[in-house]
Amino acid sequence: MVFLMKLSWTTWVQTASERALDLLFSPTCVSCQADLDSDDLKACEQELSLCVACHEQLLLPDWPACRRCAARVPEIPGTVSDCGQCRTNKLCFDRALSLDSYEGLLRELVIKMKSDRSERLARMFSSLMVRKMGPAIRDLGPTVVVPIPVSRWRRLVQGAGSAAALAAGVGRGIGLPVLPRVLSCRHNPHPQKGLSRSGRFQNMRGQIRARAGYPLMSSHVLLVDDVLTTGATCSEAARVLKQRGVTRVSVLAVGRTPSG
Ligand SMILES: [Zn+2]
Ligand SMILES: [Zn+2]
Repeated sequence: MVFLMKLSWTTWVQTASERALDLLFSPTCVSCQADLDSDDLKACEQELSLCVACHEQLLLPDWPACRRCAARVPEIPGTVSDCGQCRTNKLCFDRALSLDSYEGLLRELVIKMKSDRSERLARMFSSLMVRKMGPAIRDLGPTVVVPIPVSRWRRLVQGAGSAAALAAGVGRGIGLPVLPRVLSCRHNPHPQKGLSRSGRFQNMRGQIRARAGYPLMSSHVLLVDDVLTTGATCSEAARVLKQRGVTRVSVLAVGRTPSG
């Protein structure tokens, strides 16, 4: 089935410098460009392409997080709670997981992944998510992986986007089919940056469409995105997926903004 094909990397290209480095020199750290010695490769394995120091910076201890939106919540031993926002405003997705807070080196590398359209960084982040959160993702029980879409115009100019590259890696790592084209973004929405929380939800309303003809009935979709802020985009995607018969939607993001 054509729509179950994994994402083609032709839309998400390695930069010329990455290709040159891969072909001409010994493996380098995808973050700081240091040569990877045998200790780095032993500790991190080649797929991550991270030196030990950068790997440690990206693998910080878990923090207590809201089950629904992955926002940081105060630690109350023995309890699992939703954040204040989720107790009053129900998002349309059911659960969210993020690799870590969208700060420091993680933030720097997510921005670089998007601006450079870096396949190496997308592969590193999806491998890191599968390693760190594989059991938690499997416990949620998703049946299919779907990336957050980019608008048609951006797809034309920049390719499928970082969410699609991440979703392909996560699907491969978890062993789930990926539906890269099930969602589409109708227009070129006004950028979310700078809008209030309610403005972000309003701005996304009606912007995402779930295409007909996909076997979504009674499925559990794992939505993949690079950064989760208020959850407005993922919530809109979850809303339209549920209209197509999806029973449950979980979200997986590389970074969760500390507030919002
Ligand atoms: Zn490094
Ligand atoms: Zn929450």
